[in-house]
This record gives sequence, C-alpha cells and structure tokens, in this order.
Amino acid sequence: MSKFDITKIRSDFPIFADKSLVYLDSAATTQKPKQVIDAVSDFYSNNYANVHRGIYELSMKATEAFESARQKAANFINASDWRSIVFTGGTTESINLVAYSWARNNLNNGDEILITEMEHHSNIVPWQLIAKDTGAKLKYIPINMDGTLDLNNIDNLITNRTKLVSVIHQSNVFGTINPIKNIINHAKKVNAITFIDAAQSIPHSRIDVRDLDCDFLAFSGHKMLGPTGIGILYGKTELLDSMPPFMGGGDMINSVTMCESTWNDIPYKFEAGTPKIAQAIGLGAAIDYINSIGIEKIYEYEQSLLRIALDKLKSIDGLEIYGHQNSENGAVISFNLEGVHPHDLAQFLDQDEIAVRAGHHCAQPVMDKLGVSSTIRASFYLYNTEEEIDILCKSLKKTANFFKGL
Ligand code: PMP
Repeated sequence: MSKFDITKIRSDFPIFADKSLVYLDSAATTQKPKQVIDAVSDFYSNNYANVHRGIYELSMKATEAFESARQKAANFINASDWRSIVFTGGTTESINLVAYSWARNNLNNGDEILITEMEHHSNIVPWQLIAKDTGAKLKYIPINMDGTLDLNNIDNLITNRTKLVSVIHQSNVFGTINPIKNIINHAKKVNAITFIDAAQSIPHSRIDVRDLDCDFLAFSGHKMLGPTGIGILYGKTELLDSMPPFMGGGDMINSVTMCESTWNDIPYKFEAGTPKIAQAIGLGAAIDYINSIGIEKIYEYEQSLLRIALDKLKSIDGLEIYGHQNSENGAVISFNLEGVHPHDLAQFLDQDEIAVRAGHHCAQPVMDKLGVSSTIRASFYLYNTEEEIDILCKSLKKTANFFKGL
C-alpha cells in the first residue's frame, strides 16, 4: 500500500462496519483487523496443536507458526537474535519477570532503582515490591507540570549505587515521547541495567533495540492490533542467559529429577507451561499488518490527527489539556472540562457512541502531580479520522452547554 488509504484501513476492522462507533481508547487497547482475527481463527480451525513437543506434522506446523511469530517480533524491533524474544502475557508480566528474576537476585541493600514519576503502575509496583524484598531504594525522575521529564538533575539521580533504570518511552497520560536514548546513555556511565516500557510507543513508532542499546524492552500485543494475553520481553541474550527462571513448569526445563532440575535454553527458560500459541500467531499477523502499511506512515498520519485534534479541542471553552506544550507527543490527549466530572463526561460521550477513557489511567502519581483525581483521555490510532474528531468536539460542546444549563 503506497498511500495511507484510511477507507481501506477502516474496512479491515470488522468492528467499524455498520456502526457509528467512535473509538478513541486505543491507548488502553486497540481494535483488531480481520487479518489478525483470521490468523487466530485459522490456527484454531485448521492448524491447531501444541508446540515443541509433537513429532507429528500438525504440531510441527504449529511450532513453525509460533516460532515464526517470534522472528517477526525480533525483526520488528531490529533485535539481532530471536533468542532475545520472550513471549509473556504482556508488558506487566515482562516487567515482573525482570523484577523477580534479575532484580531480586542482583540487588542488595542500598542499591538504587531509578524510574520516573510518569510511569504506569506496572512499572512502579513491581519495583516497590523488589525494593522491599532487597533493601534497594526506589528513586524517581520528577515530571514537570507540562508533562515532560525534568532531566536537569539526572547526573545526581543516577549514581554509582544505581543498578537499574526503568523508563516509560511514551506517556499513557500525556503522550509525551521521552528522550530514552539520552537516559540510557546516562545509565550506561554507571553500568546500570536499562529497561524500556514501550507499551505505548511501539504501536506507533519505529523502535530499534540495537540503536537504543537498552538491556530490556517490553510491550503488549493488544495495544498494537494483536490479541490480548500476549506480550514481549526483549532482553540481551547474555543477561537472559545469566538470569534464573521466573516460573517453573513444563517446557522451561532440560531435565527434572526428584531432587533437582536444569533449565532449557533461552528464551524457553522463561516460557513455562504451554505457551500462548494462538496469541503469538495473532501478534505475528498484527506485525505483518503494521508492516504492510508502514510504521512511519502510521506515525505521520497520527501526528496529523493529533495536530487537528489539539487545534479543535483548544477552541472549546473550559477545556484544559494536560501536556502538549514543549514536547514531541504521540496521539494521546488527556483533558478535563470545567465543571464536569470526567466519569460523567465519559458517560455523556458514550451516549453519542464515543469511547474515551476516564480515570487515573493507572498513573496515580501523575494525577497527584496534576492535582486531579482523574482525566478524560482520547487516544488515536491508524483507523481514526478527522470526522471523528469533529464528532468528539461537537459532543463535548453539547455536554458543556448541558452542564451550564444552556
Ligand atoms: N505500561 C504502559 C505505559 C501502559 O500504557 C500499559 C497499559 N495501559 C502497561 C504498561 C501495561 O500493559 P499490560 O496491561 O498490557 O500489561
């Protein structure tokens, strides 16, 4: 597909057929094109079997499809080695895997973990748990009121005691795209391990782990057109090799006796039990779909939607947008409408078949910083249109007038 053909793209998504749904919650999870639905359905209908164990043809075909999805994920982030790609249940599980396997075994009393005030809860809570277990200290890079990271003090925050730096690439609240390469370079000066939460960035922009030179990177399939229940942990092979298993069970072992067990090679050492076979195949189809359009074209299209949405939203009386002042942002806009509680507003929008998110977006420290308990979040993906932005703005104005008693 050479030009960005929005009509064709929308026609790939069954949920948009015969419906006036305006879906603006892709930062939570994305809709699925029929190519992904068909790949999963075809696997269950025609090619289903367990992987790795079977000597029969159906199992070998399933294994081939499953492992080819792993290779697609490796290529998608420019990883040089398929063994760097661990299938997990999602970003949350990927972070917990590193927290429990790497951090719990490598951190000691007085060591420091550095994250940011912008993190999703899934990149805060696992480190809090590990800090409690190990005596390590959890420190935060602060955020500014404009939704950017305050990196002025980074050289003081990253010290010789810093053993791990884990940072969100793109904010799920503001859409702010953080200068992760710069932060990774700072972390390298003290030999800290680096972890990138790419859950929000990878569906929309090119990620190159070789260029970033991060140690770990995590993302979720369901936010990039793929199925739920599948995610990726990318890790440098030497690190993954050195880490103990996260969970024990079938497939992750070499040998088991009544007394002890030995571990399978990476990445299988971290994939205990029957893996997420259909989900991985669906994720592979999602990657194919994104590649068929081109991630750069998707980014460009979303940036044009973002500019239009910001312009139109700014013209609405009493609407306050958070962030989007001094930064490059993905197409995610958090806002509040004066005098209307975000949950009420989301319900009014829902009456016009507009799906937005209302709440703290699993980022309560960000809400604390902004001094609000919740916001409305509209987030865009490759299937959204300018007309949908108009529908959103019309509904917002109508709701504002209703609450003013006009
Ligand atoms: N990090 C970020 C930035 C996210 O937006 C999310 C999902 N909202 C997660 C982590 C967790 O992803 P999942 O729920 O798919 O594990």
